[in-house]
Amino acid sequence: MATMTVIPKKKTKKVPAKGMMDNVMQQFSIAADYIDLHPNIRKILSITNNEIIVNFPVKMDNGEVEIFTGYRVQHNNALGPYKGGLRYHPTVDIDAARALAMWMTWKTSLAGLPYGGGKGGIQLDPSKYSKGELERITRRFTFALADNIGPEHDIPAPDVNTNSQTMAWIADTYMSMRPPAERTANQHVVTGKPEGSGGLEGRDRATGYGVFLNIKFWSEKNNQSIKDKKFIVQGFGNVGFWAAHFLEKEGAKMAAVQDAFGSIENQNGITVEDLFNYSKANNGSIVDFPEAETLDSKHFFATDCDICIPAALGNQITKDNAATIKATLIAEGANGPTNVEGEQILLKRNIAIIPDILCNSGGVVGSYFEWLQNRNGELWQFDEVIAKLDKKMKESFNKVFEYAQREGLDMRTAAYCIAIQRIEKAYIQRGIFP
Ligand code: NAD
Repeated sequence: MATMTVIPKKKTKKVPAKGMMDNVMQQFSIAADYIDLHPNIRKILSITNNEIIVNFPVKMDNGEVEIFTGYRVQHNNALGPYKGGLRYHPTVDIDAARALAMWMTWKTSLAGLPYGGGKGGIQLDPSKYSKGELERITRRFTFALADNIGPEHDIPAPDVNTNSQTMAWIADTYMSMRPPAERTANQHVVTGKPEGSGGLEGRDRATGYGVFLNIKFWSEKNNQSIKDKKFIVQGFGNVGFWAAHFLEKEGAKMAAVQDAFGSIENQNGITVEDLFNYSKANNGSIVDFPEAETLDSKHFFATDCDICIPAALGNQITKDNAATIKATLIAEGANGPTNVEGEQILLKRNIAIIPDILCNSGGVVGSYFEWLQNRNGELWQFDEVIAKLDKKMKESFNKVFEYAQREGLDMRTAAYCIAIQRIEKAYIQRGIFP
């Protein structure tokens, strides 16, 4: 009989997520104080409903077995099933999953969707694994989560280092675990699937397009034009690329980009499509792109520009760099990119921030459309998706902008107030069981 060796997680070094939970709790407290949130509901929303941690073995290409740790945190489901992405990254831990799940609760509530908030992922660096290993890791993680996810219970989606392929593996594994008569009826267990497997046309660009729309709406309210504006993007993945693509189409110039490998700058403009093709051929890295100069990553946020789009990880704009930021508008593509201390510095400097729970909500709105499409057995057309997305994003932006103006608040606090009040109302109407 062949012997099986079990080895500990050797490949992924744990990197702490640096207090994302502190950040989301501080943001929540500021808004909860402002609206004088009912103390019982404050207690409920300050904690997560369920936290699932799974350790599971996966056979590697070399025959050895590696143990992985996966997380799924379900923060709140007062408004509907838990909804939120799965991230594959060394910073994924319980603190990050809790914080990201909470942000999803505020985001889905603000967008007026029938969802709550959840988030999870696996602590690993996917660049160190083959496609076959990633498939087995994803399928085994889905199996380990088992009945903790489901199309009417908790619906994952892509996030950092996961994509439509990851979602297809999850859907296939989940459906394979159902009784035969229920299999296809469970396709909406995840959103962000490939178009050939129940995915929604346009879901790929929904988050970045939503970031662009928010910048456009903000510019219109401030009598500004996007044309000839210079922008910088941190993270040139799904969100960063699509946001840059639509801004460039509207006449703006991409002056600098940072990814996990390095930073580049060209004040005359970096062509978005060229950089995308270059990075695709360069293992996903923008480094040494021939049409730009190398930029010291430490000074990335101090680069000359009008608009800054953090579209990578959390806690990137802090007291250490907020004072040197040149942009007059920060559009948060990422979740939690600005911490409270950094934000206070920015607000004192009159730098506007379109907060994550509004700015990047195009993704979850697109996911909601995909979920409806699958649930109703429909196939939506691209133009229809974009028209519905435009409408929903405009409603959310106007709601937040008007609340902020009326109350004299920054846009983040306004967005939180609206989101929390919707959940508070649901709890007050239904009461607390028993
Ligand atoms: P992605 O994996 O497609 O891309 C991530 C990008 O960030 C890559 O270019 C990567 O190189 C870069 N990056 C990673 N670590 C970095 C670091 N330390 N410094 C600079 N760059 C770094 O991920 P994505 O889906 O584009 O997600 C980006 C952000 O947007 C995340 O915060 C995610 O939670 C948020 N978001 C994503 C969606 C979605 O639909 N994908 C929706 C809402 C919010």
